[in-house]
Amino acid sequence: MTEFVLESKARHAVCKAMRELKRLGLNRGAEGNVSVRFREGFLISPSGVVAEDLSPDQVVFMHMDGTHSGAWKPSSEWRMHRDIYRQHEEAEAVVHTHSDHVIALSCLRQPIPPFHYMVAVAGGDIIDCAPYATFGTEELSQHMLKALGPRKAAMLANHGLICYGQSLERAVLMAQQIEALAKQYLLARSTGEEPKRLTEAEMAEVLKKFSGYGQQAAD
Ligand code: 13P
Ligand code: ZN
Repeated sequence: MTEFVLESKARHAVCKAMRELKRLGLNRGAEGNVSVRFREGFLISPSGVVAEDLSPDQVVFMHMDGTHSGAWKPSSEWRMHRDIYRQHEEAEAVVHTHSDHVIALSCLRQPIPPFHYMVAVAGGDIIDCAPYATFGTEELSQHMLKALGPRKAAMLANHGLICYGQSLERAVLMAQQIEALAKQYLLARSTGEEPKRLTEAEMAEVLKKFSGYGQQAAD
């Protein structure tokens, strides 16, 4: 495949993921942003553009030093995307959402504990919440990296979620799964009781199983 075709595919994939997040109800208006690693940098959704109006030519190519060219401004959250690609070699795509239940929990500034085994989907036994900082700032990105730790997702206080994956499809799915976990956790807590938590050993077993989980051809 030529470089041109590859880039065109990646630009279309960014637009598709932005529309999918909207369709899933995880973002509204121009909320949220997505990116995919490309060449020595990454392709990121432009700032302030509503998903339905987004076209592949508006997607912005950024270098790892934060520079870009062209008429369109990159997402205001480009630092968080760039810092994930810098810090996490396995990250091929990054998704940021403003989904309701994640936001509700992020306003309590509390993590999602191991109340359900699916918390392991983010690669650990907790999904942490980064302290508050203004959107689009270096400070927010620093807080986000710490909250992420070795995991693939973190909540941002009074803001939303950021997660990464090996592809845009997987990162979008993770954003959907974490929104569901936040909803289920809040629902269980709304009974007035704190949900029972899985132990460290139980979560370690799930994490081990997850590392080999998925469709595989039978031997
Ligand atoms: P952008 O439109 O600049 O990507 O900003 C949306 C957002 O979610 C900011 O946190
Ligand atoms: Zn945001």
